[in-house]
Amino acid sequence: MTETMRAMVLESPGQGLQLRRAPVPQPGAGQVRVRVSCCAVCRTDLHVVDGDLPRPKRPVIPGHEVVGRIDALGGNVSGFKIGDRVGVPWLGHTCGHCRYCTGGQENLCDEAAFTGYTLDGGFADYVVADAHFTLPIPDEYDDISAAPLMCAGLIGYRAYVMAGDAPALGIYGFGAAAHIIAQIARFEQRHVFAFTRSGDEEGQAFARSLGAAWAGSSHEQPPEELDAAIIFAPVGALVPAALRAVRKGGVVVCAGIHMSDIPSFSYDILWGERVVRSVANLTRADGEAFLRLAPKAGVRTSTHCYRLDQANQALADLRDGKFAGAAVLTMAE
Ligand SMILES: [Zn+2]
Ligand SMILES: [Zn+2]
Repeated sequence: MTETMRAMVLESPGQGLQLRRAPVPQPGAGQVRVRVSCCAVCRTDLHVVDGDLPRPKRPVIPGHEVVGRIDALGGNVSGFKIGDRVGVPWLGHTCGHCRYCTGGQENLCDEAAFTGYTLDGGFADYVVADAHFTLPIPDEYDDISAAPLMCAGLIGYRAYVMAGDAPALGIYGFGAAAHIIAQIARFEQRHVFAFTRSGDEEGQAFARSLGAAWAGSSHEQPPEELDAAIIFAPVGALVPAALRAVRKGGVVVCAGIHMSDIPSFSYDILWGERVVRSVANLTRADGEAFLRLAPKAGVRTSTHCYRLDQANQALADLRDGKFAGAAVLTMAE
């Protein structure tokens, strides 16, 4: 008899997730199976569930901020043993031989596979993952507080690095990624300027509590010129807003996987060697660098827990901005 597990499954985009019994997956060569302890909820999960991203696996189990323990090993796995505590991030597999993979940009590989999107993810009791894309979790974090590090932290960190050496850093959209990156920025003595939806006083207070020098609405001009800005909110209209806030030579980093259309804007606000760029996915090197830095910087995550079967509620609350920090699904029954 095949063993089964609980899984929150996306059968068709736009229809929400369904709680199903699914076969416990078996690890293939080079893979590990993880007994999931918890899985954080990312804005990208919303884009998967809403059908904003092309060609998802159908049906698919979302979730790419997985924390758990290895409970089975496929063939040819080295470096891990049963019982190891690991995280499974968004980048699940790459080809290993294209110009991107061999040039330090595996995040851009055309053959890449993504956890919880083109591969089944962690909104379930078990997940299988390529051992090479599985990351050990630093001891300083318990399972729940580690989960948001796996994407909000990792991809947020890649966006932060792309923003360059920016003593005055703007962050547009103060959710899960921003709350982690603000702490890294403070640790590195940068001034953080947080932009939220207008009227989100709770979000602005949360940003100030994490050391933001200023917090206000996205339509406001910050009290000083920014050296760089990171846009975590999926709102194209923030691109011209951020360009107006950064100094000459400054960079605006679009950190989300999906964004509404960017409205046309006058060349004046790009002039002066301002740069707009996107950040796509993560590399394993980003993961390793960030997971070394986070405990050193004393990064703490603010989490809001839901049971696995409440995944749709967690997604709805994320959409409505109902909590500060990150939502985490816990598998305990
Ligand atoms: Zn490749
Ligand atoms: Zn994510």
